[in-house]
Amino acid sequence: MSSSTTVTLLPGDGIGPEVTQAARRIIEAVGVPIVWEVCEAGEKVFKKGISSGLPQDTLDSIARNRVALKGPLQTPVGYGEKSANVTLRKHFETFGNIRPIRHMPGIQTPYKDRPIDFVVVRENVEDLYAGVEYRDTPGVSKALKLISRRGSEKIARLAFEVARSEGRKSVHVVSKANILKFTEGLFKKVAEEVAKDYPEIELFHVLVDNCAHQLVKRPEQFEVLLTTNMNGDILSDLGSALIGGLGLAPGANIGSEVSIFEAVHGSAPKYAGKNSINPVAVVLSSTMMLRFLGFVEEANKIDQAIAYTFSKGILTRDLAASEDRAVSTTVLTDHIIQNLGQSPDGWEPHDFKSLQVPQKLENGPQEEQRIVGLDVYLRSSQSTDELGKKLDELTREKPYHLSMMSSRGMKIYPHVQVPSERVDHARCRFTMRDPQAPFELKHIEDLIALLHREGYMWAALQKIATFDGERGYTLAQGE
Ligand code: NAP
Repeated sequence: MSSSTTVTLLPGDGIGPEVTQAARRIIEAVGVPIVWEVCEAGEKVFKKGISSGLPQDTLDSIARNRVALKGPLQTPVGYGEKSANVTLRKHFETFGNIRPIRHMPGIQTPYKDRPIDFVVVRENVEDLYAGVEYRDTPGVSKALKLISRRGSEKIARLAFEVARSEGRKSVHVVSKANILKFTEGLFKKVAEEVAKDYPEIELFHVLVDNCAHQLVKRPEQFEVLLTTNMNGDILSDLGSALIGGLGLAPGANIGSEVSIFEAVHGSAPKYAGKNSINPVAVVLSSTMMLRFLGFVEEANKIDQAIAYTFSKGILTRDLAASEDRAVSTTVLTDHIIQNLGQSPDGWEPHDFKSLQVPQKLENGPQEEQRIVGLDVYLRSSQSTDELGKKLDELTREKPYHLSMMSSRGMKIYPHVQVPSERVDHARCRFTMRDPQAPFELKHIEDLIALLHREGYMWAALQKIATFDGERGYTLAQGE
């Protein structure tokens, strides 16, 4: 490719300007014709009173160019609640977070002789990080773990496309499907469906707890880890530590329309302006961006120059054996530039092909949903037995009844041998006495009016349903 490409550059806060400047110098030196549109975001913008930390000009530039290289942004305390980083991810629906984790020569870690080389492909907008939280009662708070079929399919396709573009032979879908059957279970099931479209790549499943264990024990067994949002957040940080830490951890936020490339680390304010921080995480993020734009050869040349520089023991403070052997940010950058064209023994870039980003998907087939009951979360000072008996009595003449009560997922009423402790968030499950009869709106209205009349405080309501006859809710432990 020879025509120039315009990219939005957000230098960011703290160490951001230093590390993005290093990336910019190296890209210029390798000869990629990029026109940078430099835009503001983060701390300065919050302080101007723009509560998102993102001026409209910046959002317009990213939307126009569709590719951005971003330094870290910080949210100053007292200038709004929302992080500009999260807002960017949500605004442009960058649904996939790609974090390559690969050993580099010359980096001293307990794993230095191990061929660690995998990519975490993490779902980036759903799960607990959708940030939908409630305080239901004085004593109980909850967060919704939202996993969609469509979101799971998009990220599974992206993981297989990453595997394909890097010539990898396997993908591990990581989940907690053994416990969270409807959320993590859906994620795993969708990955298994998507795998059929990629017959040359083998899909394995690994439980997230075992994955953490395996990553420490035998990280070289993994090529691509496909994860939900929070699991991927944790595992990718674990992965960065295996290869030398945050100074070496690049990332990309991939969307169907826009992709934003950034290091995993934050703005490390204590190092701002000191010319001592490691710029390599953002430089490697920029080479991910170059490949994405089609400049594969140039990106590989930069990666090899970094590996070669490290192999000669030229390292910043975070990686050097001692402070007096460390070089500054700008000196490391100079060496990388001088070493363009060099390659260390035994460290080759992958044979990268262009990455096909999954486009917007339609919602899947719509199954028939049938409401079969209502879970009412109650606050009550009555004992469990008193409460259960009272609700039994109140619904004696009704077509619906209290089928069970649970506390934090454990059945506490009726017929419980060893009653467990109850928090102020009793789940009272009401279902029809005749299991064939539908639980209709009039039953919900009647039940709520009844509870109000009796002075009960309900904290939350949840309809329970079947889908094409299959239960769409879990049973309580012991139900
Ligand atoms: P951080 O900025 O990532 O820094 C934590 C520590 O990691 C640093 O003190 C340093 O460790 C090490 N580190 C970070 N970047 C490094 C680099 N390039 N080279 C070498 N070492 C590096 O995390 P934080 O202090 O928790 O967060 C600071 C601010 O950044 C917060 O406002 C946070 O919200 C924001 N943040 C932004 C992003 C983003 O923009 N995507 C991501 C994370 C955090 P040592 O102290 O051991 O030297």
